[in-house]
Amino acid sequence: MAQHQRQSILCPNCRKLISISEPHCPYCGTARPASFWKNNIWTRGFNNPYQLIKAIIAINIGLYILSLLLNPTASSLSMHPLTFLSPSDTSLLLLGATGTIPIDRFHRWWTLISAGYLHGGILHIFFNMAAFRQLALLVSREYGLYRMVLFYTLGSIIGFWVSYIAGVPLTIGASAGVCGLVGALLYYGKSRGGVYGRTLYKQISGWVVFLFIFGLLVPGINNWGHGGGILAGIILGLLLEYQERKKENLLHKGLAGACAVLTLLVLAWAILTAVIYRLFG
Ligand SMILES: [Zn+2]
Repeated sequence: MAQHQRQSILCPNCRKLISISEPHCPYCGTARPASFWKNNIWTRGFNNPYQLIKAIIAINIGLYILSLLLNPTASSLSMHPLTFLSPSDTSLLLLGATGTIPIDRFHRWWTLISAGYLHGGILHIFFNMAAFRQLALLVSREYGLYRMVLFYTLGSIIGFWVSYIAGVPLTIGASAGVCGLVGALLYYGKSRGGVYGRTLYKQISGWVVFLFIFGLLVPGINNWGHGGGILAGIILGLLLEYQERKKENLLHKGLAGACAVLTLLVLAWAILTAVIYRLFG
């Protein structure tokens, strides 16, 4: 029994119990299911989607603190709630804010990835992370955790790319990625239908209307980034489908893994170059 258990694994694609020596999964046909590239910490999955969601929130908070510490004397300590504890523009530029200034003048294309992890003030990060936490859990339930990572990462990149095309000079924030999650939920609610689908669709549409009004009233909101993120989420939802139609598989895990590795590399590069510039620049 013990021997048998040690030589069994869960297929990284269909999650069925199979022998480690199988050249192909007998259930779904995945080749070499025991190879490291297909069966590792990432593809074996998270016991609880909260683990990854918390890690993403922690990265955002860590970068926010670093952006304040990088240039402490220039960080705003004004008591105005919208600018309280705001990092300086220089810190944000160094850490990878995006827009026409960083991309056209400094050829920093990688900022399309890093900008989604930077925030301009304590309220900015608080509202974005509260929305992210709630929507990420909903998306993980209906699409699975890995597709959530794809909507969040690609929604953010595409949203910032759209705002770059529209000529926005300098922009940051997790809201383009959060809008990717919003778009995926809009598609899900509309496509699934039924009482649950319709209710969800209505609820999420309410968020979109709120975002739109908020974007018109408050200056400095990147409406292009929001719109691009929502559109990207809808299209990706349509392309990747949700759990009820297509269970999460090895392809989703691989694509999400590539997004995670790319994001971590870009953030490590942003932090390294920003700290070196502050110390020696
Ligand atoms: Zn399988």
